[in-house]
Order: sequence, then C-alpha cells, then structure tokens
Amino acid sequence: MTDDREIDELGRKVRALALRAEGMAEPRTPAEEDAEARRLVALLAREGLLDHERLSNRAVCAIREALAYQSGIADVAFVMQGLGSGAIARAGTLGQRAEYLPHLAGGASIAAIALTEAGAGSDLTLIATRARRDGDAYVVDGDKTLISNAGLADVYTLFARTADDPRGGLSAFIVRGDDAGLRVTERFQGLAPHPIGSLGFTGCRIPAARRLGDEGDGFAIAMKVLDFYRPTVGAAAVGMARRALDETIAHVKGRRQFGARLADLGGVQAMIADMAVSIDAAALLVERAALAIDSGRPRTALESAMAKYRATETAQTVIDRAVQLRGGMGVVRGAAVERLYREVRALRIYEGASEVQKNIIAREILRGGGGA
Ligand SMILES: Cc1cc2nc3c(=O)[nH]c(=O)nc-3n(C[C@H](O)[C@H](O)[C@H](O)COP(=O)(O)OP(=O)(O)OC[C@H]3O[C@@H](n4cnc5c(N)ncnc54)[C@H](O)[C@@H]3O)c2cc1C
Repeated sequence: MTDDREIDELGRKVRALALRAEGMAEPRTPAEEDAEARRLVALLAREGLLDHERLSNRAVCAIREALAYQSGIADVAFVMQGLGSGAIARAGTLGQRAEYLPHLAGGASIAAIALTEAGAGSDLTLIATRARRDGDAYVVDGDKTLISNAGLADVYTLFARTADDPRGGLSAFIVRGDDAGLRVTERFQGLAPHPIGSLGFTGCRIPAARRLGDEGDGFAIAMKVLDFYRPTVGAAAVGMARRALDETIAHVKGRRQFGARLADLGGVQAMIADMAVSIDAAALLVERAALAIDSGRPRTALESAMAKYRATETAQTVIDRAVQLRGGMGVVRGAAVERLYREVRALRIYEGASEVQKNIIAREILRGGGGA
C-alpha cells in the first residue's frame, strides 16, 4: 500500500479511533499496562491494522504518526506486533509464517523481540545468550533485558549465540511465551506506560524447527527488521510533536497575560514558527526514508538514520517548548504536554540511540554516499 490516497485514508482511520477517552487515567502498574496493551492490540486487530507483513513502510509511518499523536502506549502496542514478528515475516519458512503471522495480525497473539542484554545494548555483537544444539532442539541459557511486552508476549523472536563469531555466530529463534525454561525475571516501570521487563532462559528447549533462517543468520535478520522500523520511530516522534504543537496553539490562543493573548506576543510567535518548521522538516525526512525503503532500494541506511535522528531530537525539543508555553500547568500530571514529555524520551534511545544514528550517517557519507 503506497498510494497517496490510501495512506491519507489510513491516517484518517487511525485518527478516528477512540483510543483514549478524555480524562482516562494512564495505566500505572504492570498489570494495568498489560491490560491496556491487550485492549489496544484487540482494537487495532479489529480495525485490520496489524497485518504488518502487508504494510508498506509509508503505511506503518502513517499509522504510527496518527497513533502516537493520541497515545504512546497505542503506538507501542501497534509497532511491537511488527517488530516482534518481523524476523518471522522476513526469514521464516512458509510453515513458520503460516503458524504465527495470522494469529499476530488477528490480535490473538502478542509479539516481542528479544535482542538487548545487560552487556549488549547498542553493540549487539556482544550478545552472550547461548543456544546450544542438542539433537533436534536448541537449549537456550542467558538473560535479556529492556524487552517490550516481556511477560505479555505469546511469541518472542530471540537472538542468541550459536557460535563465537561476534556477528556470524548469532542466530534467530521463535520462542513461545509458555516454553519451559523461560521466565520473566523483572518488570520495569518507565517514565511513560510501556510493558517492559527482563527475561531469563534456563535450559529452555526450543525445537530446531523454530530456528529462523540458517545458523549464523541472526545478525543480518535483526538488521533487516531494525532497518525497516527505524524511520517509523521518526514517524511516531512526528506524531507526538504535532500533538504538542496543536496543544500549544490552542493554549496560546486562549491564554491572556500582559493585556494580550500569548499568541500575540512576538517571542511566542517565534517559538511557534520554529516548532512548525522543524516538525515539517522532520516529517519530510521520514517520508523520504519511507519512500526509499518502499522503492526497494537495497541501501537506505543513510535516509533511515537521518529520519530517526532528526525526528526524535526534533520531537524532544518541540515538546519541551510546548511544556514551556503551557507554563506551570505544563508540568502537572494530566496535561497532554506533560504526558508527551515523558512519552517521547525513550525514542532517542531505542532502536539505535541518536549518537549511533550519527555514526551511521557519517559512515554512509564518508564511504561516498554523498548527502543522500
Ligand atoms: C522503552 C524501551 C523499549 C525497549 N524495547 C526493547 C525491545 O523490545 N527489545 C530489545 O531487544 N531491546 C529493547 N530496548 C533496548 C534498547 O534497544 C537499548 O536500550 C538501546 O539499544 C541502547 O542500549 P543500552 O540501553 O544498553 O545503552 P548503551 O549501548 O549502553 O548506550 C548508552 C548510551 O551511550 C551512547 N552510545 C552508545 N553507543 C555509542 C556510539 N557508538 N557512539 C557514541 N555514543 C554511543 C548513547 O548515548 C547511548 O544512549 C528498549 C529500550 C527502551 C528504553
């Protein structure tokens, strides 16, 4: 789906969803986060929005922008179904795809992706979780942390070491939430509602038929999945920034100080102008990256990294300005800009921190890619 009209319709459809009733309390405990994530997955599935295998990058961007405009946890519920199943869609056999993807698209199963470990964050070649071949199975031992949907997921795509080579020794597997030897060792509470925690694998036996691709394909598979979803993080950031700008416009038009509306003050107008320009510039970078991916170009690392880096940094700045212009009430729980301030922060860290994106941008430019 790359047609402009269809993309616009998708955005409209998501904007029309009643994701958060006005004044609805945010989930506060892990149990409330899980319940909200399940409710959102069911709602998105009913609307036919979770068939990630069929969604173009522009479509995922349109959906994420419109979801993140309304609710950060809704954006997470949507994207985790794609990130968590991306390895199955890209490297799975026909049988593996048929067994798992329809349930995930239909919302009957929830997905997660397990890459990060305490010692392996930005640098995935440091993954230490081991998958040892034992007859017709692999036995997994190790720990994963900062895993979205930990404990909630029915299906995990796990990246573990089958050999010592830092990259070539990684392999990908499908793990089921009820596999013996897998347990949730910790649940975290973040700045914003987000089901997340740590996983422990102790002698967890996975049939060899649940390996994705060949032994040693894991690193390449993970990169394929992350490369696809990177610009879409930028799209979510753009959605949050647009919401912050809309909230700000409504506020400054209504609020009077010094005998004038805030909107009539030159300093405020300059801030609004900067916010609007930087959001559109970020949105254009996201659109360019999504178009490049959808065109089938083999190398899109430069465009994707620029989009993710610029859009997430922009959203952080825009939302900070929105809090500023809301005044003291901007830091009080219940204000939309206060929620956005908490929701946006993680986007500059996950799926490649901003500094890592800058490394990629410089690498691509210096290897002769030019200015894209
Ligand atoms: C809300 C949230 C959800 C997440 N969900 C998942 C998930 O579902 N599955 C999963 O596997 N992981 C997940 N993660 C983990 C995430 O991918 C990692 O946090 C991220 O890759 C960074 O790794 P780290 O936290 O270990 O930081 P480190 O790798 O220790 O880096 C710390 C900081 O150092 C700097 N830095 C790192 N490398 C460089 C460099 N080369 N040059 C310059 N500076 C650098 C950056 O500022 C970086 O933020 C999630 C994280 C968050 C916050």
